Amino acid sequence: MMITYDSVEFFVKTAAEQNTTISALVLDDQAELFALPKEDVFSRMAASYEVMKEGARAGAGQNGISASGLSGNGGYKLTAYAQQKAFSGAFCANAIARAVALAEHNASMGKIVAAPTAGSCGILPAALITMQEELSLPDEAVVMALFTAGAFGMVIARQASISGAEGGCQAECGSAAAIAAAALVELAGGSPAVCSTACAIALSNQMGLVCDPIAGLVEVPCIVRNAGGVTCAITAAELALGGIMFPVPTDEVIGAMREVGVALPLSLRETAQGGLAATSFGRACKLDCTQMA
Ligand code: SF4
Repeated sequence: MMITYDSVEFFVKTAAEQNTTISALVLDDQAELFALPKEDVFSRMAASYEVMKEGARAGAGQNGISASGLSGNGGYKLTAYAQQKAFSGAFCANAIARAVALAEHNASMGKIVAAPTAGSCGILPAALITMQEELSLPDEAVVMALFTAGAFGMVIARQASISGAEGGCQAECGSAAAIAAAALVELAGGSPAVCSTACAIALSNQMGLVCDPIAGLVEVPCIVRNAGGVTCAITAAELALGGIMFPVPTDEVIGAMREVGVALPLSLRETAQGGLAATSFGRACKLDCTQMA
């Protein structure tokens, strides 16, 4: 059976019928689609996870300022802060540090995995690496959770958008938070239905988030939005695992996100003409960057 990635409901229903996980369904499907042994498909995803882990390590070790002067040192500082005095607990603080480290690594042209995009690349890996550390999970479990994240990401991409230019930052950081929330739930042993609930909650909490990068650079506010996205994913996963129901079906939440994206003015869709990009500070930065170029 080839999967069309048209609805989250399909995954929840099929996984329940077959008494399996969403990740197992996706792995089977991708092996069939690309006519590859499942081991090969798994190895490709495992290679992506290695890139994510290396990006988090590299970003945390970067102690320098970006070419624009707008960002830098964040992952480095937050990694130390997480170990010393963060008040939100080690799990949250480490996830935040990793999200920033990865987003800064992206801003400095480091190698990352777009998950689902470069601008939002810190959220999913930060959530999963931190969960792996917390629960002492083997790499195999996390790689499988990436297939679950992929399933939700594919549905969002097909039914709404994962592009800031099309749907605002809700489509990038919002989608990243949603797929990370679903993956966290699967890693924690939650059912496919609970994965779906976590996705819906995360997406709802990010709905309406605009895309307004200062000077058109994927730095401000993108880097801190990765930190916000990972905490949103953790919150949504905890809510869903804790038994909170979300009354709006996940596929309808995704549809609502699409409509909100369509309704956003162009100035708030990656044109660097609205929101933070349109502040006096943002306009001055844009002018500086134009003169530098
Ligand atoms: S603000 Fe725009 S460019 Fe930055 S992460 Fe969000 S969608 Fe991407």
